[in-house]
Amino acid sequence: MVISDLPLTTSDLHTTKGGRRNSTLICAPIMAESVDEMLVQMRKANEAGADIVEIRLDYLKNFIPRQDLEILIKRSPLPAIVTYRPVWEGGQYDGNESKRQDALHLASEIGADYIDIELKVAHEFYNSIQLKKPGKAKIIVSSHNYQNTPSVEEIAELVARIQATGADIVKIATTALDITDSARMFQVLVHSHVPMIGLVMGEKGLISRILSPKFGGFLTFGSLEPGVVSAPGQPTIKELLDLYNFREIASDTKVHGVIGNPVSHSKSPHLYNAAFKSVGFDGIYLPLLVDSVEDFLTTYSSPDFVGYSYTTPHKEAGLNCSDEVDPIAKIIGAINCMIKRPTDGKLIGYNFDYIGAIAAIEEGLRALNRTANISGSPLAGKLLVVMGAGGAGKSLAYGGKEKGARVVVANRTLAKAKELASKVGGKAITLAELENFHPEDGMVLVNTTSVGMKPRCHATPIPKKALKHYSLVFDAIYSPKETRLLREAQESGVAVVYGTEMLINQGFEQFEKFTGLPAPKQLMRDVLARNT
Ligand code: NAP
Repeated sequence: MVISDLPLTTSDLHTTKGGRRNSTLICAPIMAESVDEMLVQMRKANEAGADIVEIRLDYLKNFIPRQDLEILIKRSPLPAIVTYRPVWEGGQYDGNESKRQDALHLASEIGADYIDIELKVAHEFYNSIQLKKPGKAKIIVSSHNYQNTPSVEEIAELVARIQATGADIVKIATTALDITDSARMFQVLVHSHVPMIGLVMGEKGLISRILSPKFGGFLTFGSLEPGVVSAPGQPTIKELLDLYNFREIASDTKVHGVIGNPVSHSKSPHLYNAAFKSVGFDGIYLPLLVDSVEDFLTTYSSPDFVGYSYTTPHKEAGLNCSDEVDPIAKIIGAINCMIKRPTDGKLIGYNFDYIGAIAAIEEGLRALNRTANISGSPLAGKLLVVMGAGGAGKSLAYGGKEKGARVVVANRTLAKAKELASKVGGKAITLAELENFHPEDGMVLVNTTSVGMKPRCHATPIPKKALKHYSLVFDAIYSPKETRLLREAQESGVAVVYGTEMLINQGFEQFEKFTGLPAPKQLMRDVLARNT
């Protein structure tokens, strides 16, 4: 299929064959210093599943226009956009402007499918093209804003100015200062009457790149390798295709995600996207790097944004933004899951961390006491030391109390430990005191602080020598799976339970809330094992 055969609007989506539910192209930026390297990259882009390449002439050293363009355009295995980005628009080319535009005219003459020209010089380029031999190239007129994302009205006005140049395709790239910035781009994109590339650059703009098909974007960029990008925030082609099921995103696809800050380490997108796909559920799950939960929920209030997981530091803010909260989440004072109720759009908060973590610890204790005939919870009567007093700490402390454990809360900030301990009828100490804390043997220790989490894997919340007083250690951290705490516990002969168990158990509950379907448990376990 050639590019021009692909439908350009989302209304055509369901007419496409072969499982592809949108017409948005994946474009691989080709940035190399030599023509040969570019040819290698183009081949890789084709193999990786890209639809189109963007040849960035400004990256070439010793560019010989006619000779190099003939090779690059004629040998490209995919349709090509030829771009020669000048420094004044964020590119690498720092030479004579008319030579630059001559090279683009030449690319059109030689048979490039698309030429990218910057809005600032588009009129000049169009005037001169009348005098040259016409080519078949469609013209993309582009505008890049590396500072911010303007208002909807300003973006729409920019679209009109670009359209007025005679552009075949409008390209607007802005910069995300906040995740809500992408919403303004979506609003313009979905109403555009011309094919439009509308992307918001930077980590906080990732949602604009992945959801481009939902709002009818002409293309999105996918890099060949992580970090080797032509603009900040680009995912890889592999991530678009394998992690986000990009081809299956359509205008009615339901949006889910994990709200956190930071959030790029989260394995949840792997877990839920694979699970959604396996049961044929039309949903996508994204990492959502959110600064203000309230701003996020108010901005993305449309009925298609339907379900969220909550992680550090937003579990309490999530609860405060819920219209209704389930009784356990209310007692804990934090949520880890939120659903938009389809009947009335109300936001309902839940906390499944408690179920997931406690079940995993009980299982660990049962395995330890295989011979003992325990009826009821093996946590009953045990001394449970909870390190941390944030969202996960509250879940574990309340969960432990529910099961009849005696709870001690150890936290860096003693005031928070005291507050939580008073609610669960327990004792509060500082993290530092744990080194010499030894009221009895056979205690259960759980870590719910973020100490030891990637990238600071060398850190641990408790000295190794104190671990021998415990019968079991659980670490809520799942990235990495094997934390220093768990490694040192094993070295001290103590049983361990991994944070991945908590993640998977509460993941089953969330999946069922998101989809209304039973969780594909084995598949979710396999995905998690592959990604931790
Ligand atoms: P949170 O609400 O932000 O709480 C963070 C806790 O960590 C607080 O008690 C905080 O102490 C403590 N802390 C942070 N930095 C510290 C440091 N440098 N030294 C000592 N203590 C420090 O976060 P959360 O949502 O409870 O999550 C905490 C951890 O649990 C994260 O690693 C998260 O990934 C993990 N988690 C895992 C699962 C799972 O399914 N496995 C589920 C939920 C959470 P202060 O009060 O003194 O600030």
